[in-house]
Amino acid sequence: MLAGAVLVAALIIAGKLLIGRTGAPPPTIAPTVVALTPLAPAVAPTAPPATPIVIPPATTPTAIAVAPTAPPVPAAPLAALQGAVVCLDPGHGGADLGNVRLEDGKVVLREKDFTLAHALEIGQRLAAQGVQVVYTRTGDTEANPTNADVNSDGEVAPEGGEAHSDELDDLQARVNACNAAGADLLVSIHYNGAENEFLQGYEVWYSDERPFSDRSARFATIIHSALGEQYAAAGYDAFDKGIGIEAHAVTGPARPGKLTPSEMPGAVVEGLFLSNADDAAFIQTPAATEAIVGAYVEAIDQYLQETRA
Ligand SMILES: [Zn+2]
Repeated sequence: MLAGAVLVAALIIAGKLLIGRTGAPPPTIAPTVVALTPLAPAVAPTAPPATPIVIPPATTPTAIAVAPTAPPVPAAPLAALQGAVVCLDPGHGGADLGNVRLEDGKVVLREKDFTLAHALEIGQRLAAQGVQVVYTRTGDTEANPTNADVNSDGEVAPEGGEAHSDELDDLQARVNACNAAGADLLVSIHYNGAENEFLQGYEVWYSDERPFSDRSARFATIIHSALGEQYAAAGYDAFDKGIGIEAHAVTGPARPGKLTPSEMPGAVVEGLFLSNADDAAFIQTPAATEAIVGAYVEAIDQYLQETRA
């Protein structure tokens, strides 16, 4: 709507300038063709460029930052998305904060909050397109809040201890949720942290030891590019740490006696570094939420369209 209004305004201005010139004496200086710059910000990147018009040479176009907007929602859901099942895994939760950002010794940002908020938003948008979405958690809890011996290895977290669930039991619970749903894709959402506060950027991990590793690699490639493009469109120069191969518990192969593996392609995505000042400042902005959520939705859509066509 806004883009349309701006375009209309631009045309009205163009019309007035042209009409004004019609009855006026011919200019003594040859006019120069200058591209009209929209006068208002928040022009959708997809808006057609304004038609070049004739204006007096004294006018200089001014560069205006174009705010990114949400990608248009398709009017009709795509057939390839209908009935597809996607398992979203918001990393950590409950007693497990994940990576944190410390300022003056105080925890100011927690990975578990961003992973959950983003997963729920991604899931909502996918569901609106006809995708069936399952989550490994939907609240601020562990995936195995009852501290059950989910992987049957005879070990659980100590009662009253710092962790409310043994890590492998927690990860096995996540894998089990995705397997039980018969998901087509497992997307594990994480944010990074490091003692070295200069480390920053985004990276994607998948396992090359699975029967469907080619599909995991494909999704890793798509989400990696989508994040890079969306960060750039949001005006944030995020550092590209690339795509790596890792036998992460939720996407990797079986660990005999310790872990039954996921049954579908997937990737672990580390969106940004909470421990880095630039990444931390950006991730708290609405533009970052839009970029990240948009990248996931776009990447999952594209993956499903490619693999379910
Ligand atoms: Zn994590």
